[in-house]
Amino acid sequence: VTRDGTDPPEPMSGDSFPILGEPLTVELANTRYTHSGGVIDFLASDDLVASWFAHAPGAAGLSVPTRFSTRDAEAVRQVRDAAHGLLDSVVSERGAIDTRGVAVLNRHAAAAPCRSRLEWPPTGPIATAVYAGSQSEVLLAQLATDVITFMSGPELARVRRCAHPDCQMFFVQHHHKRRFCHESCAHRARQARYYLATRSTEREDAGR
Ligand SMILES: [Zn+2]
Repeated sequence: VTRDGTDPPEPMSGDSFPILGEPLTVELANTRYTHSGGVIDFLASDDLVASWFAHAPGAAGLSVPTRFSTRDAEAVRQVRDAAHGLLDSVVSERGAIDTRGVAVLNRHAAAAPCRSRLEWPPTGPIATAVYAGSQSEVLLAQLATDVITFMSGPELARVRRCAHPDCQMFFVQHHHKRRFCHESCAHRARQARYYLATRSTEREDAGR
């Protein structure tokens, strides 16, 4: 993990990855953690990429190799950066969408051809996506497809950035009162408000 600036705030879990239980695309974007002290890349090495997939919710159904080549890890980071950039422009309500990010997603989604397959067990019909290609090609196609599906789906309009000034994590807001990515950020914000209120009271006392 490259650390640039101050240590990140909580929340951290699962080998210190910032995992919140959000949809896979949001979790992936959050591995590029920006805060007031700089940027932390939680997928900075091949091993970290492999470890993240072992912990990430929603990654269970993906074609995850046990080891990542440097090239494959870099491709995962490219998909991540595209997802992060697009969520950032949506949440910031900036006019221009990063068309390069869109192109990156489309390129990686085409890494492995895919067809739909209908299965009809007694429980009812299900469609499965059948991919052709190497394990890492299939993973990239699956990952990029997940991001494409998320970006074009109903949850995109609910993506928010954590309200803590020192935290930039994305989350999907399912309850209108939720403003923080995690309880720890809400707690830190309450502490800061309490601290400021106490200090201003002390200053008033001193002025008397
Ligand atoms: Zn936060």
